[in-house]
Amino acid sequence: MRMILMGPPGAGKGTQAARLVERYRIAHISTGEMLREAVAERTPLGEKAAACMKAGQLVPDDLVIPMAVERLSKPDCRAGFILDGFPRTGPQAKGLDAELKTHHLALDVVLVIDVRDELILERITGRRMDPATGTIYHIIFDPPPPEVAPRVVQRADDTAEAVSARLAKYYSVTALMIPFYQQKGLLRRVDGNGSPEQVTERIMAALP
Ligand code: AMP
Repeated sequence: MRMILMGPPGAGKGTQAARLVERYRIAHISTGEMLREAVAERTPLGEKAAACMKAGQLVPDDLVIPMAVERLSKPDCRAGFILDGFPRTGPQAKGLDAELKTHHLALDVVLVIDVRDELILERITGRRMDPATGTIYHIIFDPPPPEVAPRVVQRADDTAEAVSARLAKYYSVTALMIPFYQQKGLLRRVDGNGSPEQVTERIMAALP
């Protein structure tokens, strides 16, 4: 299975991707996660990307495309992959297309998770992560257990200000790729409002 997971910030892409990789035994490629690691490790890429990310802006294509292409060449991607948060721009989609063609590979599905804007803000501002395990919690909907609570952290771009910038970018840039994949007959849309379990069920029903 080779798929792209698209949707606004807070749609549940990371949560659903984690479930899908377990079920299909495929690689999870989250460009956001890779960039956050680069920022934490203060690599040259991380130094260049940090300010854009904190402000909720997109990291430039000339940094993101080579990073994603290199990741796709790793052996664990041979069994299949989920791209979570990539491509996000037209040039990224073209870069991905070219890379897949070179290796005679094709995408199976592009899944878009749609969520109402009010719910997005509520989900994202309450989102916390356990740095020890990577598990995502929500302070109200899915609070961390007492032994984990003291160590949870908030993402630097999960503030109300950065979220509105990220949402604006999603609708003005990333969502414009939807027709491109629709024309290729690859697009499936699922309703992302509801519990993670409900959304997983809808995804399973929508997958080819
Ligand atoms: P995410 O974890 O997917 O929400 O990504 C977090 C942040 O990383 C985004 O708001 C962007 O600043 C940056 N980012 C992640 N993926 C991309 C991408 N494909 N293109 C540009 N910027 C990205």
